[in-house]
Amino acid sequence: MSKVYNFSAGPSVFPKSVLEQAQQELLDWQGSGFSVMEMSHRGKYFQSIAEALEIDLRSLMSIPDNYKVLFLQGGASAQFSLIPQNILQGKTKACYVKTGAWSEKAAADAGYYCEVLVSASSEDSHYTTIPDESTWQIDPQAAYLHYTSNETIHGVEFSTTPNAHGLPLVADMSSNILSRKIQVSQHGLIYAGTQKNMGPAGVTVVIVRDDLIKPASLTTPAVFSYAEQAKNHSMLNTPATYNWYLVGLILKWLKAQGGVEAMEQLNIAKAAKLYQAIDQSSLYSNPVAVPYRSRMNVPFILADQNLDKLFVTEAEANGLFELKGHRSVGGMRASIYNAMPEEGVLALIDFMAEFERTH
Ligand SMILES: *Cc1c(COP(=O)(O)O)cnc(C)c1O
Repeated sequence: MSKVYNFSAGPSVFPKSVLEQAQQELLDWQGSGFSVMEMSHRGKYFQSIAEALEIDLRSLMSIPDNYKVLFLQGGASAQFSLIPQNILQGKTKACYVKTGAWSEKAAADAGYYCEVLVSASSEDSHYTTIPDESTWQIDPQAAYLHYTSNETIHGVEFSTTPNAHGLPLVADMSSNILSRKIQVSQHGLIYAGTQKNMGPAGVTVVIVRDDLIKPASLTTPAVFSYAEQAKNHSMLNTPATYNWYLVGLILKWLKAQGGVEAMEQLNIAKAAKLYQAIDQSSLYSNPVAVPYRSRMNVPFILADQNLDKLFVTEAEANGLFELKGHRSVGGMRASIYNAMPEEGVLALIDFMAEFERTH
């Protein structure tokens, strides 16, 4: 196949140069004679990979010194229950803002460990908006306030960091981490699975402020205790070594592109072009209120649902893959993460216009 563009929501597209570097280093990492896959996680080679990984993430996100950076397993979904187990610390309630499928899941899992107070919900609008912050109900007795900075399925994104009114703010940034500048210090905890915007599946990044790291509940496995993993530099047991290495390569690539600021400018441009094409057409539409439209995941529906199948088939014939929307919302979805080049978005826009013209 000639040129293909992969619009998958995750696992998702890698920069080609990163794949090529991994290929070159596959059998012999930097003259060591070993593949990264074969290295002891306690050996000096892997230690240097692990150190660079943390240093690069700290510098890209300007993570203050009073935060630990953990690289765990279990995906963002495991964090849905590990967050309450680690940071409730004797409190009995937590606040959740529901803006889509992922925050809904996070709130449901937390419900096994504490009373979940829904501070705000846009369920009534079928998750096409974010309730105005002035209406949020925040209980000062709650242990934290949780929100999902980008709803990968519904295509709804916070454009600013919400005010937690003194509670530790907890963010699921799985699908927009490193896509825009954010202030880590406004958060108590940030977590993200790596397979959307920062690497392969298999690593979960947890950035957590020191004062929130206390012994986890007694029934929490040690590998899921922030305190234990922080003490052991995320190597209480064997980490997903090769995946750490790949995330590290992505971070180096991101630095070479000019870091998060440069990426954000590119992401603004890519998303603006795609939304403009959708808004100007009479075949395609996006249901999300304009201020909350995601720069990362752009869902759109066709005015005639009977054309859905044909759209997907013809898109694939044109090298445009993984555009089928999530089964829960239907229609189409284009995920345009950092690694999606602008040409990919332009190719999609051209195809969409041609499809509209011919159908
Ligand atoms: C994909 C995703 C998850 C789930 O990630 P897993 O690694 O599959 O557990 C959670 N939250 C958001 C916002 C996501 O996009």
